[in-house]
Amino acid sequence: MVFEGLAEKLQDTFDKLRGKGKLSEEDVKSALKEVRMSLLEADVNYRVVKDFINNIEERAVGEEVMESLTPAQQVIKIVKEELTELMGGEHQEITFADSPPTVIMLVGLQGSGKTTSAGKLANHFKKEGKSPLLVAADVYRPAAIDQLEQLGKQLDVDVFQMGDENDPVDIVKGAVSSARSHDNDIVIVDTAGRLHIDEELMDELSRIKGAVDPEEIMLVVDAMTGQDAVNVAERFTEQLDIDGMFMTKLDGDARGGAALSIREVTGRPIKYAGVGEKLNQLETFHPDRMASRILGMGDMLSLIERAEESFDEEQAKELEEKLREDEFTLEDFLDQMDQVRNMGPIDEIMGMIPGMGAANKLKDIQVEEEQLDKIQAIIQSMTEEERRDPDIIDGSRRRRIASGSGTEIQDVNRLLKQFRQTRKMMKQLNKKKDKLSGGGLPG
Ligand code: GDP
Repeated sequence: MVFEGLAEKLQDTFDKLRGKGKLSEEDVKSALKEVRMSLLEADVNYRVVKDFINNIEERAVGEEVMESLTPAQQVIKIVKEELTELMGGEHQEITFADSPPTVIMLVGLQGSGKTTSAGKLANHFKKEGKSPLLVAADVYRPAAIDQLEQLGKQLDVDVFQMGDENDPVDIVKGAVSSARSHDNDIVIVDTAGRLHIDEELMDELSRIKGAVDPEEIMLVVDAMTGQDAVNVAERFTEQLDIDGMFMTKLDGDARGGAALSIREVTGRPIKYAGVGEKLNQLETFHPDRMASRILGMGDMLSLIERAEESFDEEQAKELEEKLREDEFTLEDFLDQMDQVRNMGPIDEIMGMIPGMGAANKLKDIQVEEEQLDKIQAIIQSMTEEERRDPDIIDGSRRRRIASGSGTEIQDVNRLLKQFRQTRKMMKQLNKKKDKLSGGGLPG
């Protein structure tokens, strides 16, 4: 989970502070010492940590905070504000062209996740009603072109390529004019990457930049490489004057050092984050929401957005219809569960719910995940008829299902009971909804 280690330690520190009531200058200083250690252990750049702690200390050690009724809350509030500031303050949108197409040039080292992120952005913009064009400008790794073609097919998004024998500058120019004639309003260019930054690469990227003047040069960096990612970002900023970053693999980064240092070191904001290998696992990066998650205050907004990214609208409509007609079956229940699990690992989802954030309170989640596996196995062991009409599941069927799914009869009973209750509840909700929407104005 993102920032897991750091979140746990910071929350411990602040729990202690909350337990104290009135705070002395010493209390605040010793808490900040712990915060400092936690940040360094999370691999945050030491210069960044130093400034960060100084800023907080300046604001927190003063009469106003210490004499307030809730001094610990005040300190935490200051930490949250400074964390938000550290990651760039407000969410930064990409710049859209006044007259389309908007050109987004993705740059970065090989393996950072450039091609995957290109697909994620295309998916994201398509969901917003735009018409993206993916451009294969990495001519050195033939597989890169195939990979992009595959992504295009999967997402039903146009892909522009001219094979691997043309100059990338010509490819990108060709792509932009193709976008104009085909009404693609966003052009997403997947450029070549290398294992290390070299002059040849920078030269090629500069030439592309010069030729098409992209609205957005977005550096793709791998969060899991920690301070290396920060160094790479520094070099790319110097040499190519990037506009922002797409930080990938945040899902695998329990420390968070890169995410917390990169904006302060480069002056460029993270605009998007990759939180998994799947194409819907993109998050718009909001510093305040991240700060909230780190401090265990949850992040409902991102949770809702993630649900929107991963839920299929058609399916949702169909489901509503079924509920209305009282045709909701265990099969649909299974689909629903798949969709929820699609949003990411349960512990991460739970971490976004306010009050559930404290990573050390999430130990039970492992059990939840096993529970879901069990439910899935039980439903999968049913016949189609049983899934559609659970009422026919008698004692002997229950025994068969339990043994087929490697569970106990009690587990099967519990699931059937849950399902019946869910159906009943949904029916009631629907009735209420109908009443509310069907009422109209009197008279
Ligand atoms: P490129 O060489 O920069 O184009 O990198 P790729 O797009 O081929 O990605 C390299 C690897 O990183 C692939 O295995 C991707 O599935 C994986 N990857 C990309 N983004 C993410 C992410 O946000 N989270 C995780 N867990 N894996 C990712």
